[in-house]
Amino acid sequence: MSFSLCPERKFDSVTQITPELLRALGVELLILDVDNTIAPYKTLTLEEPVLAWARGLQEAGVRLFIVSNNKGERPEVFASLLRVPYIKRAGKPSPRGVREALRLSGTAPERAALAGDQIYTDTLAANLAGVHMLLVEPIRFTNVLLAVRYFFELPFRHGKRNL
Ligand SMILES: [Mg+2]
Repeated sequence: MSFSLCPERKFDSVTQITPELLRALGVELLILDVDNTIAPYKTLTLEEPVLAWARGLQEAGVRLFIVSNNKGERPEVFASLLRVPYIKRAGKPSPRGVREALRLSGTAPERAALAGDQIYTDTLAANLAGVHMLLVEPIRFTNVLLAVRYFFELPFRHGKRNL
């Protein structure tokens, strides 16, 4: 566990996270953020490339678990689309939701990774929980506040570029 705002790796899109990379990291459980990681804000569907990517991971034996701060119906909708468990109102940057996902799935922290788009919530929560942090670029800025927050994340948005 560490109070760090730095991700371990960085990707342009969640779909670049491959089973091979996860295997190399020793990761069996991939915890997914929702908003701007697997879908833009407000949508209730997953794009086909994301569905195909998730299916590919599952077929390769990677377990998926949604951990979202979202309070609405979207975590449940996406979890049922992917047929995976979920936790909503996770309260990231608190590591509580991530730890609960580890507990429910019986996974050690070093065997898990979090894929998320934010520094001050996802990255901090992952590092506090001791899981690998895989940072992705936000899918879309739907308002100026998101762009401003991204600007303040820039000093921390490095990480070993992969692929
Ligand atoms: Mg997000």
